[in-house]
Amino acid sequence: MTDVEERGLFIDGKFVPSESGATFPVFNPHTDEVFSKVAQAGEADAEAAIDAARAAFDGPWGALTPKDRGKFLLKLARIIQEEGESLARLEAKNTGHPIHDVRRFDLVRTVDWFEYFAGMATKIQGDVIPSSFKGVLNYTLREPLGVVGQIVPWNFPLMFVAWNVAPALAAGNTVVLKPAEYTPLSALEVARMAQKAGIPAGTINVIPGKGSVVGALLARHPGVDKICFTGSVEVGKQIIQASASNLKKPLLELGGKGPNVIFEDADLDAAVQGSLFAAYHNQGQACIAGSRLLVHESIWDAFVKRFTERVRSIRIGDPLEETTQLGPLTSKDHQKKVLGYVDVAKGEGAQILFGGRVPGTPETARGYYVQPTLVRADNPKMRVCQEEVFGPFITITPFIDDQAAVDMANGVPYGLGAGFWTRDLRRAHRIAAQLKAGMVWVNSYKLVDPASPFGGSKMSGMGREFGFETMREYTQVKSVWIGYDFQPWKWPE
Ligand code: NAP
Ligand code: MG
Repeated sequence: MTDVEERGLFIDGKFVPSESGATFPVFNPHTDEVFSKVAQAGEADAEAAIDAARAAFDGPWGALTPKDRGKFLLKLARIIQEEGESLARLEAKNTGHPIHDVRRFDLVRTVDWFEYFAGMATKIQGDVIPSSFKGVLNYTLREPLGVVGQIVPWNFPLMFVAWNVAPALAAGNTVVLKPAEYTPLSALEVARMAQKAGIPAGTINVIPGKGSVVGALLARHPGVDKICFTGSVEVGKQIIQASASNLKKPLLELGGKGPNVIFEDADLDAAVQGSLFAAYHNQGQACIAGSRLLVHESIWDAFVKRFTERVRSIRIGDPLEETTQLGPLTSKDHQKKVLGYVDVAKGEGAQILFGGRVPGTPETARGYYVQPTLVRADNPKMRVCQEEVFGPFITITPFIDDQAAVDMANGVPYGLGAGFWTRDLRRAHRIAAQLKAGMVWVNSYKLVDPASPFGGSKMSGMGREFGFETMREYTQVKSVWIGYDFQPWKWPE
């Protein structure tokens, strides 16, 4: 089911038009053409989705054993795998990600996350608490929260469905997911596959629509028990405020400005290779992108020469072409924003070492392309070193010693991913401890695993996803006291 022309909302196990009949266009970022029209959810549709999710939670999904929930998630993983090629092509077409990368990362991870959390369903367990009272058994239950609202951005829309939906369902919740308007198609496809897997109607609902309308409604709605948001800091703050209405505990995955430090003893081949991926994978549209290269002054010339050679060789073009390494940005607005940072860089006196323009080839003429861009910025207080650009645009800055590198790495409001390259084991552990970030990669970058906690410190978010950490987000603890041989306390005479 690629190249779909019209798609509905997915509510209560069915594709339906929006109540208002409104639709919105979905663009192909390579051609700037509309290739799909999707129903646009309004408040009434969001209400219907929340009701459906509640009914499924109080009904068939809530009644399942953990084992059966796990089996459904595993079945969904199998269907995603079986239909993977068409799903990957749809994702590449909608987002602009090179197909080669969608297959080896986004698709593989989507399957992996559903499989991992399928297994998690049967491992969510409470404790027996050593009781201070004789004749009392005190134990804890980890219970699902109910209806979870999930709002995701456009940069990895397929993968974010898995990252959000799989753990929420494993824990026994039901979901209303709002994809980004630019990229709603893969989420709707996964919903269709969930139906094919036999997952009860209402367990997963997908409502494409405006963030300011349906996203905001999910955040404030008293019938939504938890809100998970991946996106910008600005909207994240609004989510916290809206969620106060019924004291939902928000899970926030926000922006980043990842430092990527090259120490003087680094394996340069590995550092160049890994930094290229950290910087430009998915056109740099990644919250955990390594978007600030910090390079020790003693290896500056050698590193810059080798890195720039590699950047120059990046093949830009049609994301559906097998050999493409860098596709278009996902939207025209975003292309404009990223190119705007080139002007900011020049205005601040930074030096464009490579890129900074649209590629200017006939093949890329209609699409939202930006060359891979490398900007020398010696002052880490420059806006280009502080603000998230979220595109194929990175800065490179020299440093003189470890302390200077750590100060620069930590000297931004964000604290999501951070990484560095060194052969010194002592330095590896010392610097890992000093970096203010949710994830630290040494001699690697952007590794993620469904078993490993993921999330931000400082302005990059609150809460952690993946592994058992995420079960703390999607469950609540109940303490049960059984007085099997307990003499109730006497009321004072
Ligand atoms: P955004 O503007 O915050 O949008 C993210 C989502 O929120 C979209 O679905 C959007 O809907 C919706 N939204 C917008 N306004 C809303 C409101 N008032 N209430 C509720 N929902 C609302 O973010 P973006 O610019 O699209 O995405 C890029 C940002 O996401 C970057 O900052 C990036 O770092 C961050 N991000 C973080 C992670 C992470 O895991 N930490 C991962 C990926 C991306 P629309 O469709 O209407 O825009
Ligand atoms: Mg936005």
